[in-house]
Amino acid sequence: MDTMLEYPIIYQSVCFACILFGTYILCKTWSKINTQKNDKEEIAEIGDENIIKQGFRMNAVPENVDIIVIGSGIAGLTVASIMAQEGKKVLLLEQHDVIGGNTHTFKEKGFDFETGLHYIGGRIGKKTSNLRKHFDCITKNGVEWEKMDDVYDLVIIRDGENCEQYPMHSDVKILKKTLISSFFEEEKAIHEYFNMIKKARIGITILFLLKCIPYPWIQKIIHKLARPFLSIFDETTEQVLSKLTTNKKLIGILTYLYGDYLEVPSRSSFGIQALVSDHYMGGGYFPIGGPSMIARTVVPIIEKSKGKAFVRAPVSSILINEENKAIGVVVKGHHIFSRIVVSAISSTITYKYLIPQTHQHLVQSHLKIIESPELASDTCYMSMFVGLQGDSDELNLPKRNLWIFPSWNHDENMKKFRNDYSEDFPGIFISFSSAKDPTYHTTYPKKSVASIITLGFYEHVEDYKDKRVKHRGDAYNQLKDQWKERMLEIFLKEFPNLKDKIVYVDNGTAITNDFYLGTYHGAACGLAHTPERFRQVEILLPTSPIKNLYLSGQDMLTCGVSAGLMSGFMTSYAISPTLIFKYPKRN
Ligand SMILES: Cc1cc2nc3c(=O)[nH]c(=O)nc-3n(C[C@H](O)[C@H](O)[C@H](O)COP(=O)(O)OP(=O)(O)OC[C@H]3O[C@@H](n4cnc5c(N)ncnc54)[C@H](O)[C@@H]3O)c2cc1C
Repeated sequence: MDTMLEYPIIYQSVCFACILFGTYILCKTWSKINTQKNDKEEIAEIGDENIIKQGFRMNAVPENVDIIVIGSGIAGLTVASIMAQEGKKVLLLEQHDVIGGNTHTFKEKGFDFETGLHYIGGRIGKKTSNLRKHFDCITKNGVEWEKMDDVYDLVIIRDGENCEQYPMHSDVKILKKTLISSFFEEEKAIHEYFNMIKKARIGITILFLLKCIPYPWIQKIIHKLARPFLSIFDETTEQVLSKLTTNKKLIGILTYLYGDYLEVPSRSSFGIQALVSDHYMGGGYFPIGGPSMIARTVVPIIEKSKGKAFVRAPVSSILINEENKAIGVVVKGHHIFSRIVVSAISSTITYKYLIPQTHQHLVQSHLKIIESPELASDTCYMSMFVGLQGDSDELNLPKRNLWIFPSWNHDENMKKFRNDYSEDFPGIFISFSSAKDPTYHTTYPKKSVASIITLGFYEHVEDYKDKRVKHRGDAYNQLKDQWKERMLEIFLKEFPNLKDKIVYVDNGTAITNDFYLGTYHGAACGLAHTPERFRQVEILLPTSPIKNLYLSGQDMLTCGVSAGLMSGFMTSYAISPTLIFKYPKRN
């Protein structure tokens, strides 16, 4: 015992490794037994456009609903699919006019635009990859993935007329070599960085498993034991990287993906930086047929189990009884009852607005943490959608994304833009989904689309938030137009050949996200990805202080479509712990 106390970290590590190994063996054996039972390949049913646009009608709500899922983003779709596959009658409710959340696409002037899924990593192209197994499970093999160019991201710094480019290659060895050839004096730091990213995988897996534990007391013990493995989340990206190198430009390049999680290096947890960087090593992929294929394969699964998925179904309140149990929701004044309610939307909105006043006291401690400055985020994406005349070959469009920055100091870039929105955009992302999806031109011949995204702040447009969408007034329109022109200028600098091909342009801001995606203060990636967020393991959980109310979505794990998917699995395990042995099942 004395020895154990003398070496607490070693003791904790050994105990933790034993528990983890034991759980792993148990899960593997059980899932093998299960997959043998389900060895027949299930064929996905792919619904048409109408199946993901069924408007809410109270008289079409099925009787005796088992589970209501609020929000149809990837997390809501995941929970709904798993529960439907378990034979449960699911009611999926979406406030927007199409199912899918950030994975939805929209049509305008004969173009189909993607919104919040531009690429996914996780080696999803390989049927055997962990991420692919999870995706195949919820879509019943319904979605195939197209690999982007070997160089999936081209990182560019344009400082006046100076331009530097850094290609991000899907082959990690080539990627390392390219970086070392540009920073040969930093070879050691680069190797160390890649090693740290690899090691971080353990911490990320542990965080996921920890949140899957359905019993709070076991979770607390394991959280304590697992602390040494979770240390990657404790420091900021800047703190960790400045121990490796003093080369600011190298740090800027290694952290170019901060735009994916919307937190600058001085504030982001190194855990999220490691997770996102690791995610794309191996390249980027795009869903064949477009991101809406995900919803189009999941909704038929829900319907097969006698459930329904409705759009234009904003949930205004969660019904809670005197025993503090969630018993249903309110939609457009209608009370709909169910045994279980899952909220797969912003956790801030759930606790702040959907819990009735009578039960607010139950969630106040959670809300206090979620709304603290360390966790609250008001950083958003401002998207611009460009329709082009001509197909990808004709226009010579790349199957890679561009990330363009005014300087390598991301903190400084963001600070300048926050203080004065006429300053340079802190970063611009350009992507052509019509080039990434090999079927796009079959459905939309002679048409191509570009998505151009920059970062923004809620405070820049907050004054216009209460005005009706599309009628927010001249001042707002002028501001939007000013940003649109500047984004177009940057776009055309990279693709001057497209100048005469543009036939449609529209753009959005933080309040556009709030309206269409139900975000809170435009925070497109949910709660801030700071070290403090990752310390709140016992707060950001699928279980809630209200019985039978579960949470899911990007606030539970991290932002990103893949993390949203995993949070859906986590929530399903919380609802029914034995499902951890069954899903993802091999379809
Ligand atoms: C512009 C942009 C680009 C992105 N690009 C990528 C990318 O390329 N790759 C990647 O991996 N990730 C990307 N992301 C991040 C990723 O899309 C999200 O992190 C992820 O999809 C979140 O999934 P979710 O299920 O948690 O929530 P969401 O997708 O936000 O879904 C929540 C849904 O709930 C609905 N809702 C809200 N309130 C209510 C209510 N009261 N009643 C009913 N419905 C409600 C909303 O309308 C929404 O449809 C991007 C995000 C954005 C905004």
